[in-house]
Parts: sequence; C-alpha cells; structure tokens
Amino acid sequence: MSEKKRGAAIAALKRALGKAVLTGDSLPPRAGIDNARLVFHPSAYIRVENEEQVAKVLLLANKHGVPLTLRGAGSATTGSASPSENGWVLDLTALDSIRIDATAGMAHVGAGATTENINIAAEKEGWFYPPDPSSKKHSTIGGNLATNAGGLRGAKYGVTRDYVFALEGFLPTGERVRWGAPLRKFASGFNVRDLWIGSEGALGVITSATLKLLPKPEARQTFLFGFTSDAQALRAAISVMKARLVPAIMEFMDRQTVDCALRRRREKGPETNRLLKKVTGAFKKAPALLLIELDGRAAVVREDRKHLLELFAKFHGVSARDEAEAESLWEIRRTCSQAMFQMGDTKLNEDIVVPISSYLELLRYTLELKKETGLATPTFGHAADGNFHVHLMYNHGDPAQCRAAERGVKLLMEKVVDLGGAITGEHGIGLAKSPFLKLQHNKAEIEAMLAIKRALDPKDILNPGKMFTPFAMWKHPRDYATVMPWDKH
Ligand SMILES: Cc1cc2nc3c(=O)[nH]c(=O)nc-3n(C[C@H](O)[C@H](O)[C@H](O)COP(=O)(O)OP(=O)(O)OC[C@H]3O[C@@H](n4cnc5c(N)ncnc54)[C@H](O)[C@@H]3O)c2cc1C
Repeated sequence: MSEKKRGAAIAALKRALGKAVLTGDSLPPRAGIDNARLVFHPSAYIRVENEEQVAKVLLLANKHGVPLTLRGAGSATTGSASPSENGWVLDLTALDSIRIDATAGMAHVGAGATTENINIAAEKEGWFYPPDPSSKKHSTIGGNLATNAGGLRGAKYGVTRDYVFALEGFLPTGERVRWGAPLRKFASGFNVRDLWIGSEGALGVITSATLKLLPKPEARQTFLFGFTSDAQALRAAISVMKARLVPAIMEFMDRQTVDCALRRRREKGPETNRLLKKVTGAFKKAPALLLIELDGRAAVVREDRKHLLELFAKFHGVSARDEAEAESLWEIRRTCSQAMFQMGDTKLNEDIVVPISSYLELLRYTLELKKETGLATPTFGHAADGNFHVHLMYNHGDPAQCRAAERGVKLLMEKVVDLGGAITGEHGIGLAKSPFLKLQHNKAEIEAMLAIKRALDPKDILNPGKMFTPFAMWKHPRDYATVMPWDKH
C-alpha cells in the first residue's frame, strides 16, 4: 500500500474514532511486539471502548485493505499478537466487564477481562473458572479464547474450550454475530463458536463470552516429591494415573530445572527454602520433582491423599500442612521459570504434547538435544496431560548459539510429531511455529483451514500471514530490551 493510501486510511480512521486512535509518537511502547519480541511497526493502535467502534474499525480496514491484528494483553509467545508491518492493532482490553450469574453458574464477560479477575469474581459467588494459564494476571479472556489457552489444571479440568457456552463479536467483514447462547444446551447450525476458539484472531473478533463455571472446590492438598532421576519421576506420575487418581495439578520439573531453582535460593522466602531443602536435601544431586495438588470435596481429598501417600510411600516428599505451606511449595514451581535464565539470556519455550507412552522417550530426547546443540534444555510441564514445556536456553548475542537454538527447535518438532504428539498444546502457531505446521497437518487439512479463512475473511484482513506462511523468525529483528509486565513477576 502506498504511503498516500495509508495516510488516507488513517485519516478516515481518526475521523470515525477520534481519540481512540494512536499513531506516530503516541503509539504505546509495546505496540509493535508481543511476548515473542519480534519487532513490527504498526501504523495505528486503536483502543476501542465499545462494540460500535469495533464494527467501524472492521469496515474501514476492509474498505482500505489494511491488515488488522486483535490484541489483548499481548502475552502471546508465538508472535500471533504481533501486528503486520504498517497494519492496525485493535486493542480490546477496555471491554473488561464481568457479570456472574450465581444461579446459572455462568460468567458473562467482555473480551478484555483478565483470566484472574474472572476467577476472583466467580469465587466471590462460590464458583470457579478452572482454566489457569500462568499468565492469568495479565492475559485476557479474548486472548485465551483465541489461543484455546490451557493451564496447570488441564488434566482434571480441561482447557478454555471446555468452558464456553457462547461467543459474541464480529465477522472479519464487520457483521455482528453470536455463536451459541447462554444456555447449557445448544444444537442449532454449524458450530462456528468452536471454530473461533483457537483461531488466533484470524476468523473473527470476540467482544464478549458466556463461560461455564464449576462449584469452587471445598478443599485442596498440595505435595512436593523428589526423585533421583527424571525417569523415576515420570514413572511415578504415570502410576498416579494408573491408580485412577485425578489430581488437579501434577507438575513435573526435570533435574536441569531443579538444579537452577536450587541455585536461586536467595530469591525465595525462608519458608520456601526450608521446604525445598526438606525435599531436595535428601539427594546427593538435584532431584527431579513432582508438585501435586488434589482438590474437591474435603472427604474425597482426604481419601485421595491417603491413596497417594500409600502409592508414593517409598519416595521422599512433603505435604503442605496449611495454605501458607502450599503457597511456599508453589513458589518453588514459579521460581523455576526465571531460574532458567542462568543458562542463557533467552528462552525458547516449546509447549509440546506427547502421549503418555512417550513421556520417558521425550525426556531422554531432551538430553540428546542438549548434547547435540550444546544448549541447556530444562523441561517442566503438566505431567497429567502430556503437555511439557521444553526450553532451549541460549544467548541472543551469540550467533552460534542462535543457530543451535534454531536447529534444536526443528529437531524437537520433528521428534514430537514422530512420537505421535502435537507441536503446540496451548500457545498456538502464530509466526514462530508456522514453519512446522506442515509437520502436523497434511495438505488437505491445511487447504480446508485456508478455505474457511477465505470464506470468512475474503480480503484477508485479520492477522494475515500468520500460521500458514512459514515465517523466518531467526532473520527478523527482535526487541530484547523492553520489559514486559510479566517479566517483573
Ligand atoms: C509468563 C507467561 C506465561 C504463560 N503461560 C501460559 C499458560 O500457562 N498457558 C497458556 O495457554 N498460555 C500461556 N502463555 C501464553 C499467553 O499468555 C496465552 O496465549 C494467552 O491466552 C494470551 O492472552 P492475551 O490476552 O495476552 O492475548 P494476546 O497475546 O494479545 O493475543 C493472543 C492471540 O489472540 C488474538 N486475540 C486477542 N484478543 C482477541 C479477541 N478479542 N478476539 C479474537 N482474537 C483475539 C490475537 O490476535 C492473538 O492471535 C503464557 C505467556 C506468558 C508471557
């Protein structure tokens, strides 16, 4: 698009939306990046405050042929929330209403409401919204829906998709639509609601949603167990599932990860260090860990606790005596993510999924990858649903390490597909995983997805170039300096 046409489009946008449109020097500092830190230069950033404005933006984007990227908190790790070069960004965070229907067990929320605020509002009414991405303080429900976000409680409670009754919003061409209804049953027409979920902002704009809530669990019990090897920890996790115990959370931390966490003692509170020492002090080297949480009715949790302790009788661990101790055990898991930066200043966090039969092979392979690339490969993840976060740690100023990381990701993706797994379990494809889409899907599957995109978005306005066009991420400029809100935690 010529500069003249771009200027005319922005002038029309400003006439229609006034102060909601930011351009030039008034663009917000993080307008051009998401958590993948790939740098792009949008020509306008639009902070909408109501649905009428959303419709106006879509109509103008279609009329002038301007690419439009929808944005919540911008915490996407794949570049799916990165704007197109010279495109417009539509920020929906101001649509943050939350209304709990305590009788129906439903939450009526605006797309910009944060995951955490939805849960806080639900809990006040004795209900609970289970999907809990680690970014929940910041991430919006619009972003969660568009990526089908998962979280720690996935194995017992599922992912975002499992909690959606209805979505409201706009087609890429600007028409208002509602998919599903605030009803517990709905069987009319094609299920476009589920097509929008996980479509990474490419098939429509979600402005509000009706979500399913569950009764808030009456009790919870948190444990931390240590194991001499990664394989021993994974076998123990598998034994929990074989025993038909369904913990709300079963987080695995491999030895590389725990080794880092142990070296960052100073950053943890004294109580956390005491509990960590209690578990890890019994081992000569850093052990692998399993953080397990049971929840539900108090009597059921008591029964499951007894069962788990019998099953793990030969392992060394602690069981939280109260909420404060449970919180300290959680702090251990939370510090793991930051602790890894001792192994490199930049992290690739690959959210792959493998079948339970391949857990041990995956972990063996992360060590092979470590040798092959010379990079640390600390791994943690949700051991009850096979969604592991394999990290490749490298220094971004070192070209040899960048090449090793690029090669390492490719090898990992190939291995995961070989094992019958998925290249992404919760982050989506965006730009970062676009080169690997063909590993996961055959030609017919990709063609079917593209046909849907063409039908709903004939001018290719929403998030063009994402997912389907392999993106050369390693050649693209990145911004490592900007501090993101979640970097502070
Ligand atoms: C520290 C950290 C921890 C994380 N932990 C997890 C985790 O445990 N589980 C997990 O699943 N993810 C996790 N993520 C990734 C990220 O937080 C999720 O993908 C989240 O769902 C994105 O929400 P957001 O509001 O930031 O969306 P954005 O990043 O702004 O957008 C994400 C995608 O959704 C689209 N989108 C945004 N709003 C809308 C809308 N209203 N309508 C249509 N499309 C829209 C965007 O165009 C983009 O494609 C983590 C990220 C960080 C930084």
